[in-house]
Amino acid sequence: MKILCVLYDDPKDGMPSKYALDGIPKLETYPDGMTLPTPKGRDFNPGDLLGCVSGELGLRKFLEDRGHTLVVTSDKDADGCEADKELVDADVVISQPFWPYYLTRKRMESAPNLKMAITAGIGSDHVDLQAAMDHKVDVVEVTYCNSISVSEHIIMMILSLVRDYHNQHSIVKAGGWNIADAVQRSYDVEGMHIGTVAAGRIGLSVLRKMNPFDVHLHYFDRHRLPESVEQELNLTFHESVESMVAVCDVVTINCPLHPETENLFDETLINKMKKGAYLVNTARGKICNKEAIADALKSGQLSGYAGDVWFPQPAPNDHVWRTMPNHGMTPHTSGTTLSAQARYADGTREILECFFDNEPIRNKYLIVKDGELAGMGAHSYSKGSVTEGSEEAAEYKK
Ligand code: NAD
Repeated sequence: MKILCVLYDDPKDGMPSKYALDGIPKLETYPDGMTLPTPKGRDFNPGDLLGCVSGELGLRKFLEDRGHTLVVTSDKDADGCEADKELVDADVVISQPFWPYYLTRKRMESAPNLKMAITAGIGSDHVDLQAAMDHKVDVVEVTYCNSISVSEHIIMMILSLVRDYHNQHSIVKAGGWNIADAVQRSYDVEGMHIGTVAAGRIGLSVLRKMNPFDVHLHYFDRHRLPESVEQELNLTFHESVESMVAVCDVVTINCPLHPETENLFDETLINKMKKGAYLVNTARGKICNKEAIADALKSGQLSGYAGDVWFPQPAPNDHVWRTMPNHGMTPHTSGTTLSAQARYADGTREILECFFDNEPIRNKYLIVKDGELAGMGAHSYSKGSVTEGSEEAAEYKK
């Protein structure tokens, strides 16, 4: 079989010859007891860079030993790109949300052999899920592999925005020391109202991690948490997102992108937020209206915005989120720490082993199966497509 794997570019100076740490901690299970990926073998060192082209997710030996062909490229966007050329006779496509190969209906229809799209990570909105259902292409992801990585990033961003770390850090980098400049937007989070849109794996982890900061915790989700968890964390559940954002000083977005959540934070919803609130979005860029976010930061309706997700990716060089005031944006990195890469490389291999050996893939990894939303897809997504506009990614210039 032919496996097409679309990964981000190598470091500009080549693959690292050594790493900051000698290794990564060994985890026993995920917080809810779910087991980590269990592939039958592994051909990489946990802690090494695996998510870029030369890292190959550690898959080459495994695939070639079994007689398969692996093609790895980062060239994924413009007309005539390498990925499009290789897609036409591919059986499986692997892509990562950090550097998404937008598997639009048109691309899917150019690939008659395509059987499965694997997301090496979490969040399969870069695949046109409706087209996948229509063409019976299965879509799977490595559920839980980087949920905690992302929740750590969210905590970092909530504290950074409220305390105004970014502006303070840039004062030091510019050689300055004016403390009044550095603190005129700086607050404590203690006592604030913090709310998450969705309390799945990431959202619940954020609630748990914020609890010791002596804040008031809120959530909105299509699925209500068990009463025991609500009581343990003293959570306020909201029946609507509007009700929650009206009372929160900090809102964090942790639902997948699908037709129900696309453009959810538009001008209307942002204007229903508490004046001067902070918004942290590591879910997907398209859940927020690009211009409405920039306008709200300029007017002061929002005091800060941070996250690592953009639309499309890579974000065009002139994307307004690069230059808007009081933002803490990074490239899409929160779920691709070296720690997370080891887990999703293992998970991708586990999925491929099951696929080749005709064994069932874990139900929790499934998004689309046999033409229907399945597993986590049925729990967390809705039918339809959200890939429109992704061709703009070709505008990014290295
Ligand atoms: P999860 O499936 O455990 O949780 C998703 C939650 O969203 C579920 O509880 C679901 O009920 C809720 N939800 C779905 N639609 C909703 C709606 N319309 N309104 C309210 N709630 C809704 O997934 P997770 O591991 O917590 O990840 C969530 C999302 O975070 C992913 O789908 C992905 O988009 C994003 N993510 C980003 C990164 C990153 O690197 N930035 C990494 C992992 C995941």
